[in-house]
Amino acid sequence: MGHLVNLSGQKFGRLTVVQKSEQKQISGALWDCACECGGKATVNSLKLRTGHTGSCGCLKVEAVPNLRHGHSGTRTHRSWKEMRQRCLNPKSDKWQWYGGRGITVCKEWDSFEQFLLDMGERPIGMTLDRIDSDGGYKKDNCRWANPKQQAETNRGIFKKNRVANNKTSQEVIDQMRLMRHQGAKLKEIAAVFNKDVSVVSGLIKHGPRSSRSSLHVNSEIPLCR
Ligand SMILES: [Zn+2]
Repeated sequence: MGHLVNLSGQKFGRLTVVQKSEQKQISGALWDCACECGGKATVNSLKLRTGHTGSCGCLKVEAVPNLRHGHSGTRTHRSWKEMRQRCLNPKSDKWQWYGGRGITVCKEWDSFEQFLLDMGERPIGMTLDRIDSDGGYKKDNCRWANPKQQAETNRGIFKKNRVANNKTSQEVIDQMRLMRHQGAKLKEIAAVFNKDVSVVSGLIKHGPRSSRSSLHVNSEIPLCR
């Protein structure tokens, strides 16, 4: 291979090069990049250096026409942007729980103005919550909710899923991690799943002790006392 310019550590738009990718390409090196939004992308040198690719795909998701609303950076606008990322951008770190599960955003909410009109400004301390957790993001399925209401929704998802499809331990852990992502305290998660805080903390950090794959694994995790 010829002379390779190491791009590690360099920043291109929203992307910071982490390392040379293991993946092979015929022309030019591929680089693993971390995006400002939390997403990841693997991009070749040329596309980085010419500015062809400057994000994990999140820029495209945000680039909807008519952005002259003067709300960029506000709480409400951040909620709208994050909703779109987790539902529309497969590179988002939360995709698996949203877009990857078929959770959609209604066409009307391509427009931030319409979202603002439907939902109003986001109150301090509240987050965007779906009333039916299997339904998409649209006016009649969304509300601004405080952490307590959000925890109740999560408890509902958990119960429903447990009955519906005999959740595996990995799914339970994913659910716990999702709640953590959403800002729930360990104590709150422990209450939802009826587990000890230390157990929940261990599961979120390390997953199950072995690859056993049914619900009862939780009760077998020893308490660290
Ligand atoms: Zn991104």
